[in-house]
Amino acid sequence: MKLVEYEGKEIFSRYGIPVSRRFGVLKKGDSPSSLKIDSFPCVIKAQVLAGGRGKAGGVKIARDRAEAELLCKNMLSMKMATHQTGGREINVEEVLIEEVLEIEREMYLAVTMDRKSARPVLIASKEGGMSIEELAREKPQAIVKMGVDPESGLLDFQARELAYALGAEKEIFCDMTSLAKNLVRLFIETDASLAEINPLVVSKSKKLVALDSKIVTDDNASFRHKEWESYPQREFSQIEKEAAEAGVNYIGLDGNIGCMVNGAGLAMATLDTIKLAGGNAANFLDVGGGASVEQITKAFRIILKDPKVKAIMVNIFGGIMKCDSIAAGIVEASSKVSINVPLIVRLEGTRVKEGKEILAASGLKIRQANSAWEAARIAVELAGKI
Ligand code: GDP
Ligand code: MN
Repeated sequence: MKLVEYEGKEIFSRYGIPVSRRFGVLKKGDSPSSLKIDSFPCVIKAQVLAGGRGKAGGVKIARDRAEAELLCKNMLSMKMATHQTGGREINVEEVLIEEVLEIEREMYLAVTMDRKSARPVLIASKEGGMSIEELAREKPQAIVKMGVDPESGLLDFQARELAYALGAEKEIFCDMTSLAKNLVRLFIETDASLAEINPLVVSKSKKLVALDSKIVTDDNASFRHKEWESYPQREFSQIEKEAAEAGVNYIGLDGNIGCMVNGAGLAMATLDTIKLAGGNAANFLDVGGGASVEQITKAFRIILKDPKVKAIMVNIFGGIMKCDSIAAGIVEASSKVSINVPLIVRLEGTRVKEGKEILAASGLKIRQANSAWEAARIAVELAGKI
């Protein structure tokens, strides 16, 4: 689960990581006049699950109340595309209003999991701020990495080494060491896969403040974090939520070819095949190993909810379920759901011959393919024609 900035900062506060004073969080539909702001200037920040807001107009400073209200109103009706949204525009549903800090310098500090060494790693740089990705590419030597033992946390000598590496001034040296230790503790105790502060700021008054937060938790640990249930689900679209309720594994994508596949591996391979054939999938959809009529019907309904879908490619391997049962399922499902786009089906596996015969005899307008490659090419062609 990804947390938005203000949720991450609430956790920072619980772990003794200093953040700016918060005036409030405004949701779409809330009136800005309800805000209690007692000092200006203040900063208004779009609460979306993507970085790069600063460069995309999602961080604005207001000098007085009128400006703050106007900026809140404008930001809440904004669609934002940042360099991290992959060309997509996301709605700004919430804004955070905070005290403005006078910045002396910006650093970067994060803890994430290092798969190679199979333990957490602290990543830091003196040169934080808005272009950390560029820095990692162009000046990798400016980035410090430090492996952490998850049992003992960050050790004192490591914390001091880090503070030196970040050029911590004497006024903030001790704060820096305890902040780093706290961030590691937070990372471990909250079962995070990422806990990032960018920028970690030294203010003009020589205070260390986390000006932004990015926390991603590991969903596999949800069983020991009942508190996660109270967080709003922001990551998923309406269709994705409905699919989850129907027990179908669905992730929306940007293309126009709807996919119905059994098994996550085959679903991934199908997306690649469509791409290779020159098209783009509208979704990832795994109906599961025992694709029943009910599951197939639900899957068609879900795929067709996406108005971008111009063709549907079914790529199913009959293993646990035989191809003839799947074919019967497809025929029955298409009598329940009106499929108004071309349907391309590729079946393979046990009893494939019988399966294909059932589809051919059904009288439905189904294009059958003998391989995933053939199915993908037909789907790309037909999706393009509409
Ligand atoms: P991101 O671009 O999505 O990572 O958003 P950030 O929260 O990191 O903000 C981007 C930039 O806005 C920061 O690097 C700061 O330079 C600036 N910024 C954010 N909050 C403040 C603030 O309180 N005071 C000042 N002066 N600048 C701020
Ligand atoms: Mn940031």
